[in-house]
Amino acid sequence: MKKLEEHVERTLILAKHDAIQRGLVGEIIKRFENRGMKIVACKMVEPTEEMLALHYPDDEEWKKRVGARNREIMAEKGIEMKESDVEFGAMIRAYNMASLRGTPLLAFVFEGLHAVEIGRKIVGHTEPRKADPGTIRGDFSTESFQLADVEKRVVRNLVHASGSKKEAENEIKIWFKDEEIYDYEKHDWVVMHSFD
Ligand code: ADP
Repeated sequence: MKKLEEHVERTLILAKHDAIQRGLVGEIIKRFENRGMKIVACKMVEPTEEMLALHYPDDEEWKKRVGARNREIMAEKGIEMKESDVEFGAMIRAYNMASLRGTPLLAFVFEGLHAVEIGRKIVGHTEPRKADPGTIRGDFSTESFQLADVEKRVVRNLVHASGSKKEAENEIKIWFKDEEIYDYEKHDWVVMHSFD
């Protein structure tokens, strides 16, 4: 069905170090499978510095966004951030790279209708404290930006999910070679979406 195929997307999901240590990998896979997503690639990887620098690109927009979001959250609590948004974003980028360095994680590509948008919903808000129950971050953590900032580290939120279709395309290339991504039919899509 040509029309439906146009809506099939791929998203990159990482079960980070904290998810592996807490034995939550099966739970993460289950939530994507339950929603009807197809696993098309999966492996355990210890990312190199180069992979991490590509995965968290040195991007002004991203740094500004992360910095500004944090400034708002801190302001609500009456705490004034001394760093500029970009400086704070750069710090978070460095923390992210440090937190994924030197430790294996599990990388997945899931394929499905609206996989990026739905993947973000399955995962939940970046800050587990704000994440809704029913999401991975909202069901398995109470971590907060505030705590992470005090400890000068990244907020531990178990999982990464691509933020947009473009981001997913770029990220999948960082973590997987073309031949590591499989193409097969998922038969429950016939029932779910009238795929033929
Ligand atoms: P997401 O992972 O939900 O796409 P972002 O791309 O905004 O979120 O941020 C990437 C990662 O950086 C987050 O998953 C989180 O681990 C970390 N992070 C973002 N903002 C902060 C912050 N203010 N304090 C600590 N860690 C943060």
